[in-house]
Amino acid sequence: MTEIKFLGGADEVGKEAILLKTGKENILLDYGTNVQTMETPMQPDVPIDAVFLSHAHLDHSGYIPILYKNGYRKGVWATNETFELSHILLKDSLKVQKKKGLVSKFAASHIDMMYAHKRVLGYKQPISIGKSMVTMYNAGHIPGSSSTLIDTGKKRIIFTGDIKFIPTEISPGADTSYKNIDVLISESTYSYKDHPDRVILANGLRGHVKDVVNRGGTAIIPCFAVGRTQEMLVNLTGLGIPVYLDGMGIRATEAMLRYPASLKDPEGIRKAFKEAIKVRSSRQRKEALKRDCIIISTAGMLQAGAVTYYIKKLYNDERNALLLTGYQVDGTPGRELLDTGRFVQDETDVVPKMEVRFLDFSDHCDKQNLMKFFNKVKPKKIVLVHGERTGEFAEELNEKGFDAQAPKAGDVIQV
Ligand SMILES: [Zn+2]
Ligand SMILES: [Zn+2]
Repeated sequence: MTEIKFLGGADEVGKEAILLKTGKENILLDYGTNVQTMETPMQPDVPIDAVFLSHAHLDHSGYIPILYKNGYRKGVWATNETFELSHILLKDSLKVQKKKGLVSKFAASHIDMMYAHKRVLGYKQPISIGKSMVTMYNAGHIPGSSSTLIDTGKKRIIFTGDIKFIPTEISPGADTSYKNIDVLISESTYSYKDHPDRVILANGLRGHVKDVVNRGGTAIIPCFAVGRTQEMLVNLTGLGIPVYLDGMGIRATEAMLRYPASLKDPEGIRKAFKEAIKVRSSRQRKEALKRDCIIISTAGMLQAGAVTYYIKKLYNDERNALLLTGYQVDGTPGRELLDTGRFVQDETDVVPKMEVRFLDFSDHCDKQNLMKFFNKVKPKKIVLVHGERTGEFAEELNEKGFDAQAPKAGDVIQV
């Protein structure tokens, strides 16, 4: 009997953490934080034999250093790209907490300890953890992202991580060539809607940004550092409009370009990155404010980072535009702005005059592609995680003849 315990991230988008107890090995799949609330997952209630990290985003990686603080000394497995990118994000998370006056639950030395125990794993290179075989597959979400298959000898359990099937400038799309799956633990961020066609969306964005600049405004494009920043660079350079790139996206792009093989269009990204004006000083930041231009900047959900500086300077002019380009988690300033029209961050609480729009670029699969995926893989059981509407989606899947469950944090499923 294998026990799957959900330590976090089951019925929310944040603090993903799944503990697999095969009876012989205890394997932890991701150990993230909720980047907005800084909430953390439950502690594993057994000694861990291995940690597998699906990808660099902090809602999957953000709490792994605490394991080392608490005495864990075994390995953490992930792809090279994931290690490279999560190092940037983890170190930055300490800085952000310090800036906000929060005391981090772990120190830089615990990140170093995690990295001293890193075990690089390529796609489709099975390794054994005790009696279990573990294989990672490209999840198509961001560079290095993986779905993790655990074959206990009795059951084949796969955790999708965050997954995307449609190719973008960044990723060729997920590899779903695995077979005979007993349990599919699937993310379900967009279990309730379909995404618009990405090419049409990108064309619309370019047209929109030109309109903003033609009316004498500046277009602010908040982006996640990893993935969306590079996609926006490719889409928005070459229009004859100056593009400023600010925040963590600069280092993330440099890191990604060190692994061109994992990118779908490395030359396109390299060219766009070269053309963009990288903001590395406050003088350049002020220069960006004086021009009608495009500003691509972190953080994607407006929680912190350089983008908040630009919003605070530019919100009061209706010629400017703020174009949100990714999922806005409940409780983030980005979500609040979309829901209420107010931008609230630290001491700032304003109703921006500038245009605010949401564009549904997403690095998660949508409902129709999730359904296609389930129909292709035909798992014996589907377990939905990483979503805000997992319960209703499980009901819908059960009505369609699947065996689906939507656990909550703390729940245990036996298979
Ligand atoms: Zn992610
Ligand atoms: Zn995620």
